[in-house]
Amino acid sequence: MIKVQKITKRWLMRSFIIIVAALVAIEALVIFITKDSYYNSAQQAVKTRASVIQNTLDSYASDADLDFSERTRSLIENFSDRNRMELVAIDRNKKPMMSSSGFQPQLDSSLPDLVLALKSDSRMGESLHKSESGENVYCVTVVSPTQTGDILALRLMASLEPADRQIMRLALIYIAIGLAIVGFILLSNLVFLHSIIKPVAEVEKTARRIAGGDFDVRIDNKYNDEMGDLCDIINYMADELSQSENMKNEFISSVSHELRTPLTAIRGWGETLADDVNCNKSMRQKGLKVIVNETERLSSIVEDLLDFSKIQSGRFTIKKEKMDILAELEEALLAFSEKAKREGINIEYNEPQMLSAIEGDRNRVRQVFVNVLDNAIKYSEPDSTVKVTAKEEYGVIYVIVEDEGCGISPEDLPKIKKRFYKANHTKRGSGIGLAVVDEIVTMLGGTFEIKSQLGVGTSVTLTFPAMREEAKEE
Ligand code: ADP
Repeated sequence: MIKVQKITKRWLMRSFIIIVAALVAIEALVIFITKDSYYNSAQQAVKTRASVIQNTLDSYASDADLDFSERTRSLIENFSDRNRMELVAIDRNKKPMMSSSGFQPQLDSSLPDLVLALKSDSRMGESLHKSESGENVYCVTVVSPTQTGDILALRLMASLEPADRQIMRLALIYIAIGLAIVGFILLSNLVFLHSIIKPVAEVEKTARRIAGGDFDVRIDNKYNDEMGDLCDIINYMADELSQSENMKNEFISSVSHELRTPLTAIRGWGETLADDVNCNKSMRQKGLKVIVNETERLSSIVEDLLDFSKIQSGRFTIKKEKMDILAELEEALLAFSEKAKREGINIEYNEPQMLSAIEGDRNRVRQVFVNVLDNAIKYSEPDSTVKVTAKEEYGVIYVIVEDEGCGISPEDLPKIKKRFYKANHTKRGSGIGLAVVDEIVTMLGGTFEIKSQLGVGTSVTLTFPAMREEAKEE
């Protein structure tokens, strides 16, 4: 659950905050542009009106028949836009004289637009400022074209309050839209996150159970995406772990069995010989022979176990020196000739004229032949033949061991080189013989191939690279 919260937090920190910040920036920009456009159009309307008033004042001034002050007063009194703006006459003391509103006009003391108008050649000045009541007011002042009379200038004043109200309304709408977008993103992302978090939590729970040793648990894979791939791989991992756990258990039981059988024989014969002080010579000979044979078997099992542990820890090393491969093959054959004869198995050996030397470890190479021959005899029935062929072709030495034994099923065949794997549980064996063969042959740069047909027989092909001429001379 802690991790789940972390994903949500990370998303909040990295993506969500950025999205919100971007939205706030966009909203601020849009509100600014809206305000600018509203203010521009309101100011433009006042300015246009001021230009018209200026033209009117100019026409009054140019006509000598007209009383400028009176006409100007009448212009203010009859001002048609009084609903939208106020027209105020300013006297020569810069004090308000009269207003289109009919009330005594209130003017801010500084009158910046009047100051500008007085300085400007166009006789017009503008200013935007806050009134005493806090409203934004836009003012345009037009200076009178005549130097005579009591009127110094006319000032048009428009409150921007309606524009501000409209801008505020739009800003609220934009903010509401922004909040709706944020809410939608938040909701859709939480739904999406949940769709990840849920299977992750399921995977986590299952992985914990697997780590705790429950290899039978599997994830119900309902996902057709990367999450589905992850579930598949976890299930596959559980399959493999359960298989190797089974193999390990089988290994322990078969090794215990392997050790117990010779130990029972040794103990039995040992006790017999110890109890029976007067036993005859041939009986004693027989007992001692069994003890020696079984002790040898025990030590070969222990050797296998040691080799296996070395392979496991990466300490399995072999010497590489010039050696006669044929001599080792023949020695292994000799070691099995007695056993084969006893079990009624005929060994047919196709001996080559000569074979090149190889670079390898005599003991290890002999061990390869012993393991392969041992299997061929162990899994064969009486009256069958084990054919052993050695040959050299194009710098490669082949040793082929074919038997007519029980064979291996196509399902088991790809797995039998694995450690502890036993396809046949009726025969004694620890399941590491072929794993050791594979390791040694690979370390010598050769190959180990096994073909088999259930009920027909098995053919093992070992290859070793022959030593090159120059290397031999060295
Ligand atoms: P094991 O000690 O059980 O023989 P190996 O690693 O030598 O272990 O062999 C692994 C498995 O391969 C054996 O359990 C057996 O089922 C199968 N196998 C190996 N060689 C042969 C063969 N010549 N004929 C039939 N099955 C074989």
